[in-house]
Amino acid sequence: MLRQVAEGVLIHESEFCQSNAVVVHGRAGVLLIDPGVTGSEIACLANDLRELGQPVVAGFSTHPHWDHLLWHAGLGAAPRYGTARCAAAARDERSDAGWKARIAEWIPPDIAGQISWDLFGLITGLPAETARIPWDGPQVRIVEHQAHAAGHAALLIEERGVLVAGDMLSDVLIPMLDLDGTADPIEDYLAALRLLEGAADDIDVLVPGHGSIGGADQVNARIDQDRGYVHALRDAGVAGDPRVGPSAKDGWQWVAGVHARQLQRLARRSERDGTPG
Ligand SMILES: [Zn+2]
Repeated sequence: MLRQVAEGVLIHESEFCQSNAVVVHGRAGVLLIDPGVTGSEIACLANDLRELGQPVVAGFSTHPHWDHLLWHAGLGAAPRYGTARCAAAARDERSDAGWKARIAEWIPPDIAGQISWDLFGLITGLPAETARIPWDGPQVRIVEHQAHAAGHAALLIEERGVLVAGDMLSDVLIPMLDLDGTADPIEDYLAALRLLEGAADDIDVLVPGHGSIGGADQVNARIDQDRGYVHALRDAGVAGDPRVGPSAKDGWQWVAGVHARQLQRLARRSERDGTPG
C-alpha cells in the first residue's frame, strides 16, 4: 500500500527490515527509488502504480546492497540509475558465477525464497559528479559519499522538502560501516554525515532506507545520533545508543550483534595496522 509522506512523494514499506521504497511523481510517470524486496510486494507496488495510471519512467538504487537492487518485470523497462560506483559494484556482483548463492547466505531463509533475481542489479551508472537524476519531474539532487557502501547516494528532493537517506539516519539500524571497502571507514562515515548536515537545512521529511519516516525535528537528531555512534565505535567505547540493547525496537534486537561484530572487526584492524579504524 502506498502512503503519501509529502506532496507527490509516496512510500511503500516492505515486510523485510522495514525497507522503504520511494515513489516520486513526475510529469509523465514516476521515479521509483529502491523498489523493495520480495517479488510479491514489488509486484503489488507495480499493480498500485498501474491502477493509478502512473508508469515508472526512471528507477534509482541508493547503493549496491542486494536489498536495494531488485526489480520486477511489472515495473517495466525504464532506466534504473545509480552512481557510477554503485553500478560498477552491482555489475561485479552479477559477474561472479556463484552470485545468487553468495548473496542468499546473507538473507533470512523465509525471505530468500520470495525474491526474484532475474532483474537484479541491472543499474545504469550516472557519470561521476552528476548533480541530478535525469528525468522529467521535480529536481532530485544526488549527494554521493563513501559511508556504508561504495557509491552510496542520498537524494534530496528540494522542492518537496524530502531527504531520501539510503542506509543512514535510521531510527532502528545503527550506522553499518563499509569495513572492507575503504581505507578509513570511520572518517568516510563522519564525512558523509557532514555532507548530509550541510544539505539538510530545509528538510521536512526524512526517509531512511529502513525504519520510520522522520519529520523536520528528526533530521539533525538522527545525524547527531549516528555521529555519536560512530564516535563511540572509533573510541571503542560503549555505544549508549537506543538502537543497541534492551531499548531496541521489537524485532531489532539483532542489531546488538551487528554492533558487537563491528567493534571486533575495528579492534582487529587497529591491531593489524596500529591505527584506529
Ligand atoms: Zn545497505
